[in-house]
Amino acid sequence: MTYDPSNIFGKILRGEIPAHKVYEDDAALVMMDIFPQSRGHLLVIPKATSRNLLDADPAALAAVMPLVQRIAKALLAATGADGLRLAQFNEAPAGQTVFHLHFHLIPVYEGTALAPHASGKADDAELAKLAQAIATHLA
Ligand code: AMP
Repeated sequence: MTYDPSNIFGKILRGEIPAHKVYEDDAALVMMDIFPQSRGHLLVIPKATSRNLLDADPAALAAVMPLVQRIAKALLAATGADGLRLAQFNEAPAGQTVFHLHFHLIPVYEGTALAPHASGKADDAELAKLAQAIATHLA
């Protein structure tokens, strides 16, 4: 299977549609998931094009993990979450719905169950506030 640039994250990376951005550099974009499984659910998206883990350039994978760790720490600090889940899906049978590699960072709050994957849409104003709060915690 090949990468199709018309996917929604491709459009966001090209600036064709808006996103609640938390962080961006030459190699990656971090943004709020608009159908969050918990408060603060983030997506880390490498800019190098691949469908998922299986066709990614190993160098791009190696480059993105330190950013995933840095964002995870800022996310916990900003939200006060008790834990955090890192998730990444490969192909539709495994739950992948957007076919541009991305890593989910999902805060977990003691005693609160996660919402189902990609269910309700979050409030835009709330997402904007969270994006700002997480960005201020980035070292
Ligand atoms: P996956 O199932 O791993 O491909 O995850 C795709 C994720 O993208 C889901 O958690 C969706 O909630 C999220 N999503 C879909 N469209 C957008 C969008 N326009 N902006 C932010 N997140 C999105």
